[in-house]
Amino acid sequence: MAINVTINWRKTSTWRGLVQWSFLAWILYLGIQFGRFVEHFTSKGVTAYVARPAGVDGFLPIGGLASLKLLVTTGQFDTLHPAALVLLLTFLAMSLLAKKSFCSWLCPVGTLSEGVWKLGRRILGRNFMPWYWLDVVLRGLKYLLLGFFVKIILVDMPSAAVAAFLRAPYWALSDVKMLHFFTRMTLTTLVILVVVTLLSVFIKNAWCRYLCPYGALLGLVSMLSPFKIRRDTRTCIDCGECTQTCPSRISVHTRLSVINAECTGCLSCVEVCPRNSLAMSVRGVRRPLPRWAFPVILLSVYIVGVGTGMASGHWESALQYNNYQQLIPLIDRFAP
Ligand code: SF4
Ligand code: SF4
Repeated sequence: MAINVTINWRKTSTWRGLVQWSFLAWILYLGIQFGRFVEHFTSKGVTAYVARPAGVDGFLPIGGLASLKLLVTTGQFDTLHPAALVLLLTFLAMSLLAKKSFCSWLCPVGTLSEGVWKLGRRILGRNFMPWYWLDVVLRGLKYLLLGFFVKIILVDMPSAAVAAFLRAPYWALSDVKMLHFFTRMTLTTLVILVVVTLLSVFIKNAWCRYLCPYGALLGLVSMLSPFKIRRDTRTCIDCGECTQTCPSRISVHTRLSVINAECTGCLSCVEVCPRNSLAMSVRGVRRPLPRWAFPVILLSVYIVGVGTGMASGHWESALQYNNYQQLIPLIDRFAP
């Protein structure tokens, strides 16, 4: 039986999906390359050497926060995982300019999470939400987690301690430990992942909505973004389609504009509106942005951010082949 799949290239969701899944594929490729890099040293040179992809530092946001403190307090840029700070700064800049768009356009966890709740909706016919009061309480969890990391790293940790941490073997090998988090998964980790995945089948973006401290940080920064979804009340017929569609459960149809830390700039509400009453707009400017402009802006921030890091020499680790040769076989001693 022939399956007829029609792709509508005029839809924003088509382009967003393309960006999301391409980025996820790229991250998987980097992960595989990094796995081969580590395997070369673990096998003591039996397997082939591949260059370390610096982009894996994106999985070290907490270390990136420590690097940010080092940069602000001493002017020094971390040399062991500089890409962690470059990517953190890039995503902060992206949120400052283009809302929390990292979450709905680039984040691989967000992409998988969206795939899972869409699958859940297909199987169950709908997604579910906890009671409003419980939803509010649970949403607070990610801010608590963010507050915890901000307190211990940005507030409590003296600069000298941050500098010492960023020179220690633990930090040098934190990328390998992150790899082992996935490749040598403990039963506890597996159970947590299964529970979060199952939750995501029922609840849209359960991890992102309730637990991700990175998303919490980007959401708070995004409140300063000059962009917002604006509703034209002259043409709106109050059908509520936008609110029904919003994966962040924002009551779009009751607002003149959406300025909300949960808004990821996914543009789903804009796409679904039958009256073209919604558009991404710049605060204080009446004329709405063309639909292509917002994705172009956020992707430009990403390209400029990473490009600047690379061009300024803050991308590749200062660790050399012989450093990894010494450190990786000892990882369980340095980084239990
Ligand atoms: S308000 Fe619109 S752009 Fe923001 S998260 Fe909801 S659907 Fe996406
Ligand atoms: S989908 Fe469009 S027409 Fe319907 S309530 Fe939302 S803004 Fe109004």
